Amino acid sequence: MLKTIVQPLLAWYEENKRELPWRKEKNPYYIWVSEIMLQQTRVEAARPYFERFIVQLPTVEALAKCPEERLLKLWEGLGYYNRVRNMQKAARCVMEEYDGRLPADAAALKRLPGIGDYTAGAIASITWDLPVPAVDGNVLRIWARLTASYDDILRQSVKQRAVKELAAIMPKEGSGNLNQAFMDLGSSLCVPKGQAGCERCPLAFACEACKKGLIAELPVRKKPVPRRLEAYTVLIIRDGSRVAFRRRSGEGLLAGLYEFPNLQGHAAGEDVLAFLREQGLEPLYIERLEPAKHIFSHIEWRMEGYLVRVAALEDGQAGDWIFADIQTAEREYPLPAAFSAYTSYINIRLGPAGPGKEDD
Ligand code: SF4
Repeated sequence: MLKTIVQPLLAWYEENKRELPWRKEKNPYYIWVSEIMLQQTRVEAARPYFERFIVQLPTVEALAKCPEERLLKLWEGLGYYNRVRNMQKAARCVMEEYDGRLPADAAALKRLPGIGDYTAGAIASITWDLPVPAVDGNVLRIWARLTASYDDILRQSVKQRAVKELAAIMPKEGSGNLNQAFMDLGSSLCVPKGQAGCERCPLAFACEACKKGLIAELPVRKKPVPRRLEAYTVLIIRDGSRVAFRRRSGEGLLAGLYEFPNLQGHAAGEDVLAFLREQGLEPLYIERLEPAKHIFSHIEWRMEGYLVRVAALEDGQAGDWIFADIQTAEREYPLPAAFSAYTSYINIRLGPAGPGKEDD
């Protein structure tokens, strides 16, 4: 189905393409600079910055040699200064590895600092007409509407599918124009939030969202659910050569795995000592450890830790805590990676994921 849009879109582009300073000639450096500027800036706002930048730094070599202060001054007003710092790093690589000429190869372009799939596709297709797509948020919006896809375009797997489907329709000649046609269509007609100019769109004949009246609903962009923060105080409790472990509940996160005893929240040293005495232990020494965090898909643990030495226990048991030497623990009490920041203090290897899941 998508194949049928290629010729009508190319014809529309010939009639409607925007006159932009970086389109005057097929110079890969100009395309590159413009695409980096356009990552966070509208076309009209970027135009004067581009013209000034190219007059001051007309070549990759000039960019590579530019003193940082002058470079940042040229970028002043565009923000996100890492973009231009990366561009200069990439320019230096191009001087060293490619004799000052950007490589005519999307994969090689992607290895340069600050150049991702989209920018590499734009440079390679617009300059050398290589048949690679350049898929950004605008193109994903058009793709989701054309195919009436309700899949979340913020998901990597959905983006990959769109890239694959668009790569399959890249013509042998004219892929640069096709990518630019998508860019122009996305900024003039297939705009976000239900304002699309479908009645003037050259793709309306093939557009499922237009035919089914779904434009206001598409594309779907689900905001990622924020992670829940949980605070713990992790206790590495030593009784001579043994260390205390506890089995986690058989339900929920890391079910059935073992852990170091811990308290909910971030406890002060004296609270830890009082807690240990309540468990029938006799603390002899306490040392605060480095804080650590572990990220699960929906939960983030923020941990603080203490190493505590306690007087030797006769039976190696305190409540549901088991005191075991390191070898036994490695064999029988698998610890999940969430505790990796603290295992180094006792030189114990993490256990296999065991019966519970490592992620939630
Ligand atoms: S017909 Fe409308 S929704 Fe479909 S691609 Fe064109 S502008 Fe976008």
